[in-house]
Amino acid sequence: MAAVWFSLFLCFGFLFLVLEASIGDRDEIYRTCVKQCEEKGYVGTISITHCKFPPDDAHVNSSWYMQEPLYVEWKHLNCRSECRYHCMMQRETEKEAQGLGPVKYHGKWPFKRVFVFQEPVSAAFSALNLLMHFIGWLSFFILVHYKLPLRPQSKRTYYEYTGLWHIYGLLSMNAWFWSAIFHTLDFNLTEKLDYSSAVALLGYSLILSILRVFNVKDEASRVMYAAPVLAFVTTHILYLNFYDLDYGWNMKVCLVMGIGQLMIWSVWAGITCHPARLKLWAAVFGCALAMLLEIYDFPPYLGYIDAHALWHFSTIPLTYLWWSFIKADAIYRTSTQIRKMK
Ligand SMILES: [Zn+2]
Repeated sequence: MAAVWFSLFLCFGFLFLVLEASIGDRDEIYRTCVKQCEEKGYVGTISITHCKFPPDDAHVNSSWYMQEPLYVEWKHLNCRSECRYHCMMQRETEKEAQGLGPVKYHGKWPFKRVFVFQEPVSAAFSALNLLMHFIGWLSFFILVHYKLPLRPQSKRTYYEYTGLWHIYGLLSMNAWFWSAIFHTLDFNLTEKLDYSSAVALLGYSLILSILRVFNVKDEASRVMYAAPVLAFVTTHILYLNFYDLDYGWNMKVCLVMGIGQLMIWSVWAGITCHPARLKLWAAVFGCALAMLLEIYDFPPYLGYIDAHALWHFSTIPLTYLWWSFIKADAIYRTSTQIRKMK
């Protein structure tokens, strides 16, 4: 059964890979539009100020910052992204008039912008996820450090996974922060930061699932379990950032790590007599369902809400459920340990 699930997800992964190579930016009219826009600084009647560069001899009179290489680079980046956006919108309007549906450009659906927000809905949902993780982590922090009893000598928590969940909370908030930034401003740098943070979180939560499910408590064994995953994830992040941002390969790595931990948790939820196993089941099942949204990819409804935005929405209640399981686990482990000591 597990093998079937696994291969099914991998197949969908390939489907996603095929969709990733975009039809939109291969269109000749679109390409010509972007090229002309970058040269002349306008699309139709829209003028793009970022594409207006002073002639070489004018540099002498312009402000110092305008000669800074970083400023010029930033202007070029803005020019390109503005041109791509307006050409895409123009092309999509033309195609709509011909009765043709939307296609992807540079791996993404044509979204309507709101102020500086390139994908406003996904950005807003990412911010809400960040907030939910913060609330969840804060209530976990208060629970283990102030509400539950502490070990009399060391004043440390009875719960053996406190530190690990703290790191999990930080990595989650970091990942959602960069996700919100990336959906606001899609640049090479923000994209890499978003991908790297997501991979780091996925890898770490895989380690955490192994440590919790197999009840690994002593430091030496924890390091032994974590080392191979940690080494792989680090290499993968370095590969994405400094060698090749390969979407297809990254998608496969993420799917394998994601499905891996879902299977570990679900098998454990099936055999354990943990009092919060139903919560765990619900969270794992919800995650698997939500993952389908990431795989079943549809164009944005009204130019705003696509499958990816819905996937970011679906993780908001799941985050609440997940932290609620973590807190239940802390209460359960603490009470069992105290009972053992008596
Ligand atoms: Zn996203």
